[in-house]
Amino acid sequence: MTARDKDCLFCKIIAGEIPSQNVYKDSEVIAFKDINPSAPVHIMIVPVKHIVSLASMSEKETPIVSKMTAAANKIAKDMGLAEKGYRLIINSGPDGGQVIQHLHMHLLGGRTLKWEQ
Ligand code: AMP
Ligand code: ZN
Repeated sequence: MTARDKDCLFCKIIAGEIPSQNVYKDSEVIAFKDINPSAPVHIMIVPVKHIVSLASMSEKETPIVSKMTAAANKIAKDMGLAEKGYRLIINSGPDGGQVIQHLHMHLLGGRTLKWEQ
């Protein structure tokens, strides 16, 4: 099912061509530590398939977001965040602050997060 983009950073990480500190992997979702963390825990949760953004997804593709959420919840529990809480974010497009053009969810935790706009 792997459809990759040869110029995509996250596709290169998924292929093992660029190193990453992986914390979760199954056939459809991979998760690794963010290289520039904004919180004590900052994990990237990424579909194995190259999907550009939320805005680019077909309705048929949206179940992967549920799988990413399930992986995030499992990782949060494993990392001891479940009780105190955590935040999941998906940035989409330029106004949403999306820099990497491969769908990803940020899992942030380990400190009290302020709401930033
Ligand atoms: P976004 O702004 O939503 O596109 O987020 C992209 C995220 O990818 C940022 O939080 C970056 O710190 C992170 N990032 C960029 N390069 C890498 C890398 N090689 N390994 C892990 N995370 C990365
Ligand atoms: Zn990609």
